[in-house]
Amino acid sequence: MSADAADDYDVVILGGGSGGYACALRSAELGLSVALVEKGKLGGTCLHVGCIPTKALLHAAEIADAARESERFGVRATLDSVDMPGVNAYKDGVVGRLHKGLQGLVKAAAIDYVEGAGRLDGPHTVVVGDRRITGKNVVLATGSYAKSLPGLEIGGRIMTSEQALSLDHVPDRVVVLGGGVIGVEFASVFRSFGSEVTVVEALPRLVAAEDEALSKQLERAFRKRKITCLTGVRFAGASQSDDAVTVSLESGDTIEADLLLVAVGRGPVTDGLGYAEAGITVDRGFVPTDERLGTNVDGVYAVGDIVPGLQLAHRGFAQGIFVAEQIAGLSPVPIVESGIPRVTYCDPEIASVGLTEAQAREQHGAVETYEYNLGGNGKSQILGTQGFVKLVRAEGGPIVGVHMIGARMGEQIGEAQLIVNWEAHPEDVAGLVHAHPTQNEALGEAHLALAGKPLHAHA
Ligand SMILES: Cc1cc2nc3c(=O)[nH]c(=O)nc-3n(C[C@H](O)[C@H](O)[C@H](O)COP(=O)(O)OP(=O)(O)OC[C@H]3O[C@@H](n4cnc5c(N)ncnc54)[C@H](O)[C@@H]3O)c2cc1C
Repeated sequence: MSADAADDYDVVILGGGSGGYACALRSAELGLSVALVEKGKLGGTCLHVGCIPTKALLHAAEIADAARESERFGVRATLDSVDMPGVNAYKDGVVGRLHKGLQGLVKAAAIDYVEGAGRLDGPHTVVVGDRRITGKNVVLATGSYAKSLPGLEIGGRIMTSEQALSLDHVPDRVVVLGGGVIGVEFASVFRSFGSEVTVVEALPRLVAAEDEALSKQLERAFRKRKITCLTGVRFAGASQSDDAVTVSLESGDTIEADLLLVAVGRGPVTDGLGYAEAGITVDRGFVPTDERLGTNVDGVYAVGDIVPGLQLAHRGFAQGIFVAEQIAGLSPVPIVESGIPRVTYCDPEIASVGLTEAQAREQHGAVETYEYNLGGNGKSQILGTQGFVKLVRAEGGPIVGVHMIGARMGEQIGEAQLIVNWEAHPEDVAGLVHAHPTQNEALGEAHLALAGKPLHAHA
């Protein structure tokens, strides 16, 4: 069957999540004709079951903590209860408004939005139901799914982040399997809502991809919050009854809980979509690309979570924009993976960009580091938070890594990423004036100290 001329586009995008819709919007801005194929909801994981709803829960959690701890600040409030239907209504309201806004953007950009599950039939044709859509360029953006472990079936009291986002009650006891970003964010939410929480992590530390100093501080803070962290502990199995779920560990120990949250990572959604049949290299489910995000097949690109690397929404946005500009012939500058900022929104928050100290030692040999303790930062003291800003510098050279922990420190990542990506030296940043009293000052003070002129720095 030959393609209908009306179904021929400059760009056909499979998947309308962060990577796919960003590519569609930028392609349309550049005057390209675009079809965007989406089988679920426009906005994908991030908007509907990822970044946005989890951060809404974390904000509700912050409010619960503020009420619970109000007396510390001389305010007498009491936390009555956490009303999950109310929390969910707030969260769904946020998601709903953003979804509507996004739908409006796509419509206004005259993108042909195609609802339905698509699959490749050759490298330049996407089939959706009876429709065959051809593109001079095809962008694969089918995203990721929550993985489980062999033999661990999701259902009932055993759930992934997706089901945990719409609980109608606060469980008394929760086991979180996996101490990565998603695991520690949910552990933090559940604890703030009043659950007893145990995190089980096979690796020796929580958030193992981060600088080791951040993991240590997070574990200390979680211990203070009475979140039990079992690191270096291997999960053996789980069984459930009407009343409870029992989690067994390889050590022979068992933990009884009301809910087991499985947060062991996300796998790429590429199976059965015709990628390999179209000649596209698929490696353990992921689609490898070159630095210009091209696959091994001409005119076929991949963006977002299916491309090996950080699974973050803003990486997907940036990659989508990059591919649109590449197709339009603008020769965009390749995205440097280590320059992508990373924020984990648990309490305390973690924010980092660039190389960890260990990575910097590997790449640069000699490095200098400095840890500025938030104890010297006025605003952090006002908020009652602890933590630090750690800088990693190639000896005598630029800052190559910034690692921060403490309440609200995610908001400091903007300046940190400019510092790392613009290869600033501590002396450059030390010359910039940071407003007082802000947590942002901690970043400024860390650079002052590393430049040899500390102000409120306690040794
Ligand atoms: C609980 C959780 C919290 C997170 N928090 C953050 C955060 O705070 N910050 C952050 O940066 N990232 C966060 N992430 C990660 C972020 O959501 C992902 O990195 C991002 O959504 C990836 O975008 P994507 O476009 O690659 O894929 P997705 O957003 O998964 O989109 C893929 C889309 O493709 C569609 N699709 C799949 N197959 C087909 C098909 N055959 N036909 C048509 N459509 C198809 C899907 O329906 C989906 O809409 C979080 C993820 C989770 C799960």
